[in-house]
Amino acid sequence: MTTASIQHYINGQMSPGESGQHQAVTNPATGRVTGRVALASPADVATAVVAAKAAFPAWADTPPIRRARVLFRFLELLNAHKDELAEAITREHGKVFTDAQGEVARGIDIVEFACGIPQLLKGDYTEQVSTGIDNWTTRQPLGVVAGITPFNFPAMVPMWMFPLAIAAGNSFVLKPSPLDPSASLLMADLFKQAGLPDGVFNVVQGDKDSVEALLDHPDVKALSFVGSTPIANLIYERGARNGKRIQALGGAKNHMVVMPDANLDKAVDALIGAAYGSAGERCMAISVAVLVGDVADTIVPRLAERAKALKIKNGLELDAEMGPIVTAQAHQRITGYIDKGVAEGAELVVDGRDFDPSVTGDGCADGFWMGGTLFDHVTPEMTIYKEEIFGPVLVCVRVPDVATAIQLIDDHEFGNGVSCFTESGSVAREFGRRIQVGMVGINVPIPVPMAWHGFGGWKRSMFGDTHAYGEEGVRFYTKQKSIMQRWSSSIEHGAEFAMPTSK
Ligand code: NAD
Repeated sequence: MTTASIQHYINGQMSPGESGQHQAVTNPATGRVTGRVALASPADVATAVVAAKAAFPAWADTPPIRRARVLFRFLELLNAHKDELAEAITREHGKVFTDAQGEVARGIDIVEFACGIPQLLKGDYTEQVSTGIDNWTTRQPLGVVAGITPFNFPAMVPMWMFPLAIAAGNSFVLKPSPLDPSASLLMADLFKQAGLPDGVFNVVQGDKDSVEALLDHPDVKALSFVGSTPIANLIYERGARNGKRIQALGGAKNHMVVMPDANLDKAVDALIGAAYGSAGERCMAISVAVLVGDVADTIVPRLAERAKALKIKNGLELDAEMGPIVTAQAHQRITGYIDKGVAEGAELVVDGRDFDPSVTGDGCADGFWMGGTLFDHVTPEMTIYKEEIFGPVLVCVRVPDVATAIQLIDDHEFGNGVSCFTESGSVAREFGRRIQVGMVGINVPIPVPMAWHGFGGWKRSMFGDTHAYGEEGVRFYTKQKSIMQRWSSSIEHGAEFAMPTSK
């Protein structure tokens, strides 16, 4: 079987780069190597930044409505090729095809939002701030900006970044995860077909070295990162030290509170989908069920039954509910967490380590398979409660009341997403107002904000102050300029030494 050569995309064309370094790309469902992705050297990164810098002035000068027209064509092409993109994601990431389609659709939402860039960049104007003087503010692009993205959303997370950055007039260098790099190149090709000038969007493949080269490059003005918390923290510190604008979104441990008055059928459905969808490899996955009062006695046996019945198979089969784990190393890490949960005294209700891979489909015996795991009687000191497992493992914590549930969640180091299932308006309102988490769902298990609202967690789930996409995204990729203007007929004679005031 031939393996694909997955290259960089610089200045409008594929480039093998000069590092000579590669990494294997594997289909997690089969365990087979399907490609070799180039790993950029700092010199390769510099070549991409030079191309982006050269393309910037003309693109920044292109009227926003004409930039938007390129985005509209990109949007049409994305819609025409969305299933191709979804299939590429399933083959390299492993998530089921319908989930990959959902990921692409959520990315397309952001492109639709970015098409409104003329309105988003409009600025403010005040006539006559002083006699004969007007003042206005405008937002201008930064220059070359970069995005570093995680393996778990190889199309959607890059689309949180580059459509808005480019619509705002910047040029962009994307550094995707080397685990599933193909989606980035498909998107680059569609953008070129849409008429984007060469050099405005570039992709450098690679890992740590290429990220550090971007962080240290003086011509990179801003960098958006999405990935795990330890790396997000490093990116934020090193980028800030180098004088760059940084938004760095990190890891998560998302709780879902189930109140005794909740619709328990709906709560069980929500927990199963949000804990085991995408094999739990989502930053908005629910990994902790907080069961209030006597809810646990009813819900845990039902969760167990459903976890055991998950249809786990090759994601390209349309009835698959959960695919494989992304890599053998991730499989090992998750198994290690399950071992630790048992050793620390949690009750293992369903053990995903026992999963029989023979049901996963033809040619899948060597894939990285695991079943859904369910723990009960988990306590806040346990490692499986404190740390992000990023796999199909749901832990249940029993609490007496909603106040204890809120305290538990607020004490956790992460604050990305949270959900509360209840039929009580006052519980829902108080929960939404008080909880120290960035994205809240009421009877919604995965409350990923829509394209125009912006995405971002609190506490150690995000470093920086502007959230991804939405109007905050536009602010992140632009700088404000204030212009104050008058014409000679209104200029008084003589030097003024006092602080100018409105006259
Ligand atoms: P990761 O942190 O390992 O990698 C993210 C990116 O950083 C990749 O492009 C990777 O190549 C690069 N990288 C890895 N090590 C690096 C290093 N030492 N220095 C510089 N760059 C480095 O994350 P991942 O495993 O690809 O993705 C899963 C993580 O991402 C989870 O923690 C998940 O919660 C998080 N995530 C967060 C969000 C969010 O919006 N908050 C969204 C998706 C994923």
